[in-house]
Amino acid sequence: QPVVAVVGRPNVGKSTLVNRLIGRRQAVVEDTPGVTRDRVPYDAQWNGRTFTVVDTGGWEPDAKDRAAAIAAQAETAVLTADVVIFVVDAMVGATDVDEAAVKMLRRSAKPVILVANKTDNSAIELEATSLWSLGLGEPHPISALHGRGAGELLDAILDALPEAPKIVENRPRGPRRVALVGRPNVGKSSLLNRFSGEERAVVDSVAGTTVDPVDSLVEIGGETWQLVDTAGLRKRVGKASGTEYYASLRTAGAIEAAEVAVVLLDSSEPISEQDQRILTMVVEAGRALVIAFNKWDLVDADRRYYLDKEIDRELRRIPWAIRLNLSAQTGRAVDKLAPALRKALASWETRVPTAQLNQWLTALVQATPHPVRGGRAPKILFATQAGVSPPRFVLFTTAPLDAGYQRFVERKLREEFGFEGSPVEISVRPRK
Ligand code: GDP
Repeated sequence: QPVVAVVGRPNVGKSTLVNRLIGRRQAVVEDTPGVTRDRVPYDAQWNGRTFTVVDTGGWEPDAKDRAAAIAAQAETAVLTADVVIFVVDAMVGATDVDEAAVKMLRRSAKPVILVANKTDNSAIELEATSLWSLGLGEPHPISALHGRGAGELLDAILDALPEAPKIVENRPRGPRRVALVGRPNVGKSSLLNRFSGEERAVVDSVAGTTVDPVDSLVEIGGETWQLVDTAGLRKRVGKASGTEYYASLRTAGAIEAAEVAVVLLDSSEPISEQDQRILTMVVEAGRALVIAFNKWDLVDADRRYYLDKEIDRELRRIPWAIRLNLSAQTGRAVDKLAPALRKALASWETRVPTAQLNQWLTALVQATPHPVRGGRAPKILFATQAGVSPPRFVLFTTAPLDAGYQRFVERKLREEFGFEGSPVEISVRPRK
């Protein structure tokens, strides 16, 4: 999600402007001149695009103590932003402090939108044209208080934002796509057959749905699901079809086409390298994941003991996967599959509101700061969720983080927000 920083001297109306930009859905603290405010990020939406607005304290260069701290904060906000909104008081005009701020903004080389706030009427609007002298291009006259010019400003912000990512996150309506994968003989066809009784009726009732001929629509747990590339599972007679290479391509293709993967393992056998390769495919494709231990009917106390140890050892890297112990043959726990799929998909599509995310993050880094390296500790400034399916987070920092600390943040993020059954991506954007 792109970041827009709002910068300007104290009392030019930044808080009011931020309220205007976010549509007053979240309350912004009033600006008290000279008082340090933390950078607080808010979510804003305009014309179908979402972006993060970072409110900053007033920029007052070269002043002592508090003001200097505020200036440093504003500079940091600028460095981490995609677009900067520089707010000037149209009734006052450009001051020396504004000129100094412009120098700082030039150094940052970020796109800057110049806002002439408090332009409550057309007389002031005429005055505002003098702000061309700042060399930041056309001033946008607005009245944050009364809303005058706010729509035009939002349009200008959208124009300045980086290209929207091509990925369309609103999925088309229709059955959820599931990949049923696993090495030969783990019981994929057997499990599919358990659901196939209802298949014909389902195909008729979902009229107008385009389904790839190699896919199957089946009813699991009272809901229709699209099992991708099941043709191979059906046509097989006895043994695995094709070479292992071909089977692996086919598995990768099914995972790619799916939203959630059910990786079937044979509980009566050790977790193999091939099982691991399939699990890795799912994780790397960023799909939701349910691991089903099939043939559970064959697991006795002895096998259970070794299996637990294997799971600890072999699946430690994916503790977040949802695990099920079932039997395609006896039908044991097969009814747990649909709830597990729903849960994994819900995690996969979770969006954490920016304010909530940052509240949690602030408390976390306060309680456990990044360890000091070479006399300094990198700071996490704030975070945004860049996308869903799977959830992707961006941490804005003062410097790259230690891999260990990044893992710690991911673990805590999962503890706080769940994400059971879904991978989560965290990337770090150190300020440049
Ligand atoms: P696929 O290659 O993954 O499609 O595996 P199949 O469905 O063809 O199953 C391979 C073998 O495992 C067959 O002999 C099945 O009868 C057997 N099988 C499948 N599921 C189970 C199960 O839950 N318990 C037991 N005991 N055998 C199973």
